[in-house]
Amino acid sequence: AKAAGRNGYHFYTTGMHAEALKRLELDRWLREAIERNELSLAFQPKVNLKTRDYTGAEVLLRWYRPEQGFISPAEFIPLAEETGLIKELGMWVVRRACQQLSEWRGTPLSHIRLAINLSAIQLEDKELVHKIDNLLREFDVPPRQLEFELTEEVFIQNIESNMAHLNELIKMGFRLSIDDFGVGYSSLAYLKHFPISCIKIDRSFVSQLETNADDRVIINAVIAMAHNLNLSVVAEGVETEAQAAYLQKQGCDEAQGYLFAKPLPPDQLYKLATSLRNG
Ligand code: C2E
Ligand code: CA
Ligand code: CA
Ligand code: CA
Repeated sequence: AKAAGRNGYHFYTTGMHAEALKRLELDRWLREAIERNELSLAFQPKVNLKTRDYTGAEVLLRWYRPEQGFISPAEFIPLAEETGLIKELGMWVVRRACQQLSEWRGTPLSHIRLAINLSAIQLEDKELVHKIDNLLREFDVPPRQLEFELTEEVFIQNIESNMAHLNELIKMGFRLSIDDFGVGYSSLAYLKHFPISCIKIDRSFVSQLETNADDRVIINAVIAMAHNLNLSVVAEGVETEAQAAYLQKQGCDEAQGYLFAKPLPPDQLYKLATSLRNG
């Protein structure tokens, strides 16, 4: 950019300025999103690779702004993490998920386990565990119906306070899993110290496994290591039968991806569950 001279430099700063403005605007919209009722939850089923039975679903936040259409979480979650708004958004997700579970009581989705994404930033909140506990009581949800997906940074930064919070969550009866495994950090030492029950292999290792031998080597190693540590393994982003067959052959326990189901609004997940039950 420097070599481009004066005009190039000018162009560069204008670009940054536009980007900064866009983020400011997005941040302002996001702050209105809860009140304007623009947020909702989508549920993506996980399946047992051997039996192909549904084992639960991941909760994914959706934002529909009438003026703009759907805005991707890949765009607004990182921004919310930077500004700290994720603490509020994240609690909204836990509340809505608990409320949904209470609405599903007495239906075929009565005992479904939901996996909720928790950002590292949310764990900084000293009141997090207490707030989650209150929501469980409010909606009468047993902890075994909730699982939390945590990315690797949780195990690398603020280790002492994160460990304390995670141990509290474990004591309360929640399951914890490591999300996007393999993309974040190279240290594996944390696996020994944290009370984790499941590893989710990142989609980037799955999407090209049919043609990329390195991806297959990494997947095999992760599955072997996880099983030796008594952890179960979920593969994310499974889109083809060939990928599912390979992962199953390697002993991967569960999978998630468009091959089985896209993230669904609650009524569609409900229809799927009732159609399964009725044959
Ligand atoms: P993630 O936790 O890794 O979630 C999986 C993402 O992969 C989702 O994208 C899902 O729709 C997508 N996906 C699932 N199956 C397939 C597939 O077969 N192929 C492809 N190409 N994609 C697939 P989504 O919903 O756009 O979410 C993106 C990220 O935003 C999530 O990645 C997660 O990091 C974050 N996110 C979403 N909801 C929440 C939330 O409630 N809280 C927090 N902290 N983060 C969230
Ligand atoms: Ca996740
Ligand atoms: Ca993931
Ligand atoms: Ca991922």
